Amino acid sequence: MRWDKSLRLDFRFQNANVVLTSQTPVGIIPPPSDPSEWLDGYTGYYVRLTDGDGRVFYVQTLRDPFRSEAETYGDDESSPLDYAILKEPEVEFSILVPDPGFTFTLEIVNNPLQPEIPIYRLARQSFTFTIDPAEFIFPPMVVSREVEHGAILGVEKIIDHGPDDKCWTICILAEGYRADEMPKFVSDAMKFVDTFKSFGPFDEFWHRTNVYIVKVSSTDSGADLPAQCQDGAPPVSVDTYFNASFCGAVGNKRLLVVDQRTAKKVWDNFAPQAHVTFAMVNSPIYGGSGGNVPVFSTNGSAALIGIHELGHSFFKLADEYETPYINDNPDNYPNLTSRTQLADIKWKDLIAPGTPIPTSRNACAGDPFAHPVPDGTVGLFEGGLYQACNVFRPEKNCLMRTLTKPGFCAVCTRVIRTKLSQLLGPDAPNV
Ligand SMILES: [Zn+2]
Repeated sequence: MRWDKSLRLDFRFQNANVVLTSQTPVGIIPPPSDPSEWLDGYTGYYVRLTDGDGRVFYVQTLRDPFRSEAETYGDDESSPLDYAILKEPEVEFSILVPDPGFTFTLEIVNNPLQPEIPIYRLARQSFTFTIDPAEFIFPPMVVSREVEHGAILGVEKIIDHGPDDKCWTICILAEGYRADEMPKFVSDAMKFVDTFKSFGPFDEFWHRTNVYIVKVSSTDSGADLPAQCQDGAPPVSVDTYFNASFCGAVGNKRLLVVDQRTAKKVWDNFAPQAHVTFAMVNSPIYGGSGGNVPVFSTNGSAALIGIHELGHSFFKLADEYETPYINDNPDNYPNLTSRTQLADIKWKDLIAPGTPIPTSRNACAGDPFAHPVPDGTVGLFEGGLYQACNVFRPEKNCLMRTLTKPGFCAVCTRVIRTKLSQLLGPDAPNV
């Protein structure tokens, strides 16, 4: 089932409860319902919408909104991906759901199977809301704290492929640009657009993709470089709208973070029609982070950070790297599996006859091996989801595993293609 109207719902974690802080109707296509089989044993949070007769008509898995960490990147794009604890927990989150035209029940469900996450143990419970789409709860306005540091100068549609209710829409917020640097922001945003529009499979949907920019000026240019970033050089402190800073966690120099609450407020107020929103930070230093609003710098390689994070946020792809973090269940994600028999592998139709299964194994239960197969071979490669053992990914490399692989594997590509085809309907390219 498809809808052409959405509700943008904003929630805040407050006093061990979750409250709905705003409800805004937007004339855009909501993300398609996730396949119900993704919920079997799902270890994280998901949203479930039920009509007056108790029928579930929409589900959407969520990355844990209560985790307070972000992916980090090493000194350059060839360093392994890792996770780090953020100083400030992210306790606000947005969900875009269909507006079905009738009152419905929305549950934020926390599956009891969710693994214990040692970082931030907030409410491990479910929350229920009755949503009347005719109601309107205004999003919190952008207030003095932000405007002391800059101003919203305007919103522009820089790529216009049609009405927003027929397109997939992304938005880029300016951070660390002075008012006189707005021409540079427009040109930096266009450079990102140039990377994005030729990046598979987004290139196939480019004719149905819109791009907005929000021209946000800052008092100063750039981003903070705290002392722990500077190897003895003097720290740099600048006054910017979203308070961008490298070294978002000690020891992770390239973890570039912004004030996510402010970024979300600007998104809600100035570009609610965007399915996804990024913050672009005016700094040539390589860095970025995930979150409600993925962040990346203007360094030429940093665009891939934004695209990797988009793989998580809109397409629910799992990380395929092995750096230890938490133990999660690979069977909940479309691009990973715990199964080693060909018949049980969710991407078995993409595996060419004769491909050895498993294709590679780490030194877990026995000796490691790697069958020599050409790059791009779809098979069963051990390692992924922060674990070296008993988790398998589809290809040797993928943008969800390493930022040096400038593309998604065939399975991640298919997930993205399927979701965008469902979103955009019959005149999008066929899957
Ligand atoms: Zn992949």
